[in-house]
Amino acid sequence: MTSSDLKMPVLFIGHGSPMNAIADNQYTNALKNQAGLIPTPKAILVISAHWLTRGTFVCNATKPQQIYDFYGFPDELYKIIYQPDGSKEFAELTADQLKSDEVKATENWGLDHASWAVLVHMYPKADIPVFEMSLNMEADESEHYNLGQKLDFLRNMGVLIIGSGDIVHNLRTMNYNPDVPAYDWAEAFETQIKDALLTRDNERLIRYRDQIKDYNLALPTNEHYLPLLYVAALQQDHESIDFFHESIQHGSISMTSFKIG
Ligand code: ZN
Repeated sequence: MTSSDLKMPVLFIGHGSPMNAIADNQYTNALKNQAGLIPTPKAILVISAHWLTRGTFVCNATKPQQIYDFYGFPDELYKIIYQPDGSKEFAELTADQLKSDEVKATENWGLDHASWAVLVHMYPKADIPVFEMSLNMEADESEHYNLGQKLDFLRNMGVLIIGSGDIVHNLRTMNYNPDVPAYDWAEAFETQIKDALLTRDNERLIRYRDQIKDYNLALPTNEHYLPLLYVAALQQDHESIDFFHESIQHGSISMTSFKIG
């Protein structure tokens, strides 16, 4: 079956520490496995927790630069080359379709590690075009959710949409060791988000600050959470959710990832 015959699924991926790009663990195996279950996409759109802008942008570079947007990590990580083509065509189509939401195309970005540290496991040949969408830091949660719904047309065109962030993302409380047990509040917050996803309580997802305890510990800032709202917004009535990986690394960095459709 080719990707043009059906509606593509949508993924939320917890990308966590960039070190996962060079790891071989249950998480990276789950990513590899998942890619094998999805029809080969024509292109991949990543909504990235690491591209924060005023207004929303899509990157239309034909050869997006690989961005090593982290500091103080081992040299091995900076030697990973992941440089697929961009998708000027789908990026400009997206900007055009979402013109009324003032989504604009720009060449002035590339692929940050929210994309390549994940895709290096899923599509190691880098043979599928990838383009990113930024997060408008002037928009509130409901505006992000509403914009997410409008990306549906891409699913019918063979584009795999990936929201890349983390359900729990607290760098201040993280332990250097990835394998320590998760904090109780981190697990409790993630369970609440998971329940909201499984019961399709999207209002609770949007209003998590009002409705879920310890949100300020789980998410001192919201940029890693926002990509999840785009993914949840794309769920159709008949579509189920598959949590294909669940873990929390470093005590407070969630790797939990799921597929819709
Ligand atoms: Zn990140």
